[in-house]
Amino acid sequence: MPLVFPGPPLASLYHCIPLLTCLTGQVVLPLGDQVAAASAELTISDPAQAKEFALVDDAGALRPLAANDNVDTGEAPPSQATTAVTCDFSDVRFSAEFPQGRFGRCERGDDGRVIIHLEPEGTPINPSPWHAFTVEADSERTIGVEIRSEYADTRYSPKLSHDRNTWKVMEYEREGSAQFFTVEVGAEKVWIAGQELFDNNDYQIWLAKLKEQHPQLERIELGQSEEGRELPALVHYGSGNEWLLLLGRQHPPEITGAMAMRTFVETLLNDDELSPGFLARYNILIAPNLNPDGVAAGNWRHNANGVDLNRDWFSREQAETQAVHRFISDVTEPGGVLVYGIDFHSTFRDVFYTTPGDYLTKEPDFSFDWLNMLAAAVAPNAIREQPSANAAQGNFKQYMADTHGTHAVTYEVADNSDRLTIGLIATHGATTLMTYMIARPLPVIDSPQQ
Ligand SMILES: [Zn+2]
Repeated sequence: MPLVFPGPPLASLYHCIPLLTCLTGQVVLPLGDQVAAASAELTISDPAQAKEFALVDDAGALRPLAANDNVDTGEAPPSQATTAVTCDFSDVRFSAEFPQGRFGRCERGDDGRVIIHLEPEGTPINPSPWHAFTVEADSERTIGVEIRSEYADTRYSPKLSHDRNTWKVMEYEREGSAQFFTVEVGAEKVWIAGQELFDNNDYQIWLAKLKEQHPQLERIELGQSEEGRELPALVHYGSGNEWLLLLGRQHPPEITGAMAMRTFVETLLNDDELSPGFLARYNILIAPNLNPDGVAAGNWRHNANGVDLNRDWFSREQAETQAVHRFISDVTEPGGVLVYGIDFHSTFRDVFYTTPGDYLTKEPDFSFDWLNMLAAAVAPNAIREQPSANAAQGNFKQYMADTHGTHAVTYEVADNSDRLTIGLIATHGATTLMTYMIARPLPVIDSPQQ
């Protein structure tokens, strides 16, 4: 039986594996990682910090929100198309003119610091102030930068890269709801962003590489986004009619979820021991980039129409959800069977939001059994499962349950999780899922009437 207890500092009920680790309320981060070390102040056992980072995440409002948090109301805010921004001071230049680039505006403070204001694509919005910009100067110098977010407290620890590929967490000071840091700049531009960058082109490169490594994969276009960008996907065809669905990036800033998905997918395809048997049986949809317009614009949350896609799965008013629904219908109408779905996201902690076992009659223990296997494989890292069902919310997990009678999970990775641990859990997540699914009984095929 699932263990259920009120887990501080959250007001909701959830159960933890292993129990003791979760009772401490700590996010378990291995020591020694630069991300974890630099972000130690984000430990959610500190209620003040938890409040500061209060989020309306993919299970809905889980805990009291800070006074300035904007709760998802379900209203679609007016679209506010992001325009590329540059700030050109005489000695130093800031630019967000690249995919995922974003800041609202900037100004020079009295002490010479550059103040970057973060602005969302619309309001109300989940408090996920995203920023990504480059900085360059005529000659080498050290400049002070303040990140200000009037719409919601800053969420991401700023990160620095000299080549856009290798990132390190910057040392910064918190000044109220703002962040302040210094950066050495020169003629060669540096990138500063809330998380590592992974844009639409990076997905194209990644999917092309997977296709090259695994020629049996079919590269498809699920459809097009509201602004006409490709919704890219790979499909693996097994021998039967059973499907695993893997979705990602409904929310543009959720990079740690994207990291987990990449490792998860690569492990499904590459594990020497398990992949052959798993792939021989199951069909897989790999749709990792469902909000390319939001990614391109550096949106905090929404698609080009100002809609949170993970609230649109029942009304399906957006091209992105319609495209996935169309694919699923094309699979299920001729007799395809959905076995499980995983939707990758990021929030303030590592957690797997599942559908309660007794909500569905079909394979009620799927998520619980799999996550217990995962917990055993990655101990002493904690695996948190939080079952929830909210028919009004319109997220993918609920759509899988209510429209298709199938369990699914929202796989949430903490913004500040140690990147090595993200990989570790995703790798074992894939191997334990394969082990579990290979052992599932084969579907009963109706035999013709005698
Ligand atoms: Zn999300």
